[in-house]
Amino acid sequence: MASMMQPQIILLKEGTDTSQGKAQLISNINACTAVADVVRTTLGPRGMDKLIHDDKGNVTISNDGATIMKLLDIVHPAAKILVDIAKSQDSEVGDGTTTVVLLAGEFLNEAKPFVEDGVHPQNLIRSFRTASYLAIERIKQLATSIEGKSLQEKKELLANCAATTLSSKLIGGEKDFFAKMVVDAVIAIGDDDRLNMIGIKKVSGGNMRDSFLVNGVAFKKTFSYAGFEQQPKKFLNPKILILNIELELKSEKENAEIRLSDPSQYQSIVDAEWNIIYDKLDKCVQCGAKVVLSRLAIGDLATQYFADRDIFCAGRVAEEDLKRVAAATGGTVQTSINDVIDEVLGTCEVFEEKQVGNERFNIFSGCPSGRTATIVLRGGADQFIEEAERSLHDAIMIVRRALKNSTVVPGGGAIDMEISRYLRDKAREIAGRSQFFINSYAKALEVIPRQLCDNAGFDATDMLNKLRQKHSTGEGAPYGVDINTGGIADSYANFVWEPAVVKINAINAATEAACLVLSVDETVKNPKSESAQGDAAASAMGGRGRGGAALRGRGRGMRRR
Ligand code: ADP
Ligand code: MG
Repeated sequence: MASMMQPQIILLKEGTDTSQGKAQLISNINACTAVADVVRTTLGPRGMDKLIHDDKGNVTISNDGATIMKLLDIVHPAAKILVDIAKSQDSEVGDGTTTVVLLAGEFLNEAKPFVEDGVHPQNLIRSFRTASYLAIERIKQLATSIEGKSLQEKKELLANCAATTLSSKLIGGEKDFFAKMVVDAVIAIGDDDRLNMIGIKKVSGGNMRDSFLVNGVAFKKTFSYAGFEQQPKKFLNPKILILNIELELKSEKENAEIRLSDPSQYQSIVDAEWNIIYDKLDKCVQCGAKVVLSRLAIGDLATQYFADRDIFCAGRVAEEDLKRVAAATGGTVQTSINDVIDEVLGTCEVFEEKQVGNERFNIFSGCPSGRTATIVLRGGADQFIEEAERSLHDAIMIVRRALKNSTVVPGGGAIDMEISRYLRDKAREIAGRSQFFINSYAKALEVIPRQLCDNAGFDATDMLNKLRQKHSTGEGAPYGVDINTGGIADSYANFVWEPAVVKINAINAATEAACLVLSVDETVKNPKSESAQGDAAASAMGGRGRGGAALRGRGRGMRRR
């Protein structure tokens, strides 16, 4: 009660909510574990999917950690950190998003008893950082390089990595089919860094196996005017003119003011408009192009004009598609139709408008610079195709990463078991409490194989014992969970491969996130300025409730006044 007698010091705005101390830290850890529990069951080839629907009625079915985390709309400030690492893993390497969340949750879970026993979080943080450093060093040692292999060999290796990624997805049943497609697409774009050079087009209907890869660009037929039917729909080696201008008769009454002194002048204005558009169209024809594309509208007059001259045209092509056509065909987007020289025209072996399912597609294949590829995805329900697209995106990212970093590690929990064993061995060499902390970090890494077993319905304890035993022999490094038989198997031999960078990034990000959560001992919530009164009242009520827990922590934790 002594504190009550002291003069009050007001540091924070009226209505500010703060809670602090050990209890706060434990509550943050609990929130993060709860989030990890949500995605837990999606891990691995036998993982389940989540169906998430929002208040607008959008339904998403996904197995992808990052997508689920994004859609969960998490409000807890500490748990939001997990959403962020899932997102960053997604953009950085593209796969391993569930892994990173699970690891972070498990690190925190292992840290919790220590925090409860009064270990200072900074000690834990230091040991966790050391452990992650050791773990990453070990991964680098164990990784196998695919450098110096022939293209065919490389393709097979990459396909294995893609297949591992895809095996945990809805389209896992067709993983080899899609893995090959993804590898071909990634190899097609070469060193190009731009991911958007691989387009994925979704056409609902048909079978998954009807999906195909276009070595070039494909996009849905754009809106077209009368006269379009008379245009030819197939060309061999056409010249392609790519525009960013409107080919439409502009009726000036909408956007210009013209003052006339004599009514007879009106006709000359109308004539001028017609002359302008005809002049533009003539120039398009004169440059020898057989296919005219524009990002802006191509009106009915132009459509008919082109049809009469056996030219194909498409207006309002999406910018993304137009850029890819330019890159693939070697053309340049023109913003003016004057002085079009041959060099700015693109070309490809075959241009064709084709029926795909219920849609018509414009397809440019056999492109000379070959820096683009398009995957046309087929399948039943919309949600299914969307998830398939996300899965392919993961696989594409993985193949690109593997191609760039060119080292792989065995998956199926093998690498996790191996670094866990390594860290336990290392911990024995350390005197002091740090040994315990590193040991629990090592234990946390086992969450991956354990969860893979749980999700597949295997006895996780039994399996982990087998794995621990195998890894302790010194030759068991590539041994992981065999999803098909329920035993342990050499993941290398089974081609369950992951790019090393996925694991390195996941361990790095998860450790950082865990340390971040551990380093927070106070959260302060500022009241919203306009509804300060209402919020203050509400938080005073809630604050009391939580205050109880906080009080047990450090004897403080009530709302400051
Ligand atoms: P993430 O979002 O973290 O990539 P996934 O659901 O894709 O999560 O699961 C990835 C895990 O599943 C990795 O640890 C990987 O090694 C494992 N895995 C993938 N395919 C297999 C397989 N055929 N057998 C065993 N484990 C596999
Ligand atoms: Mg994955």
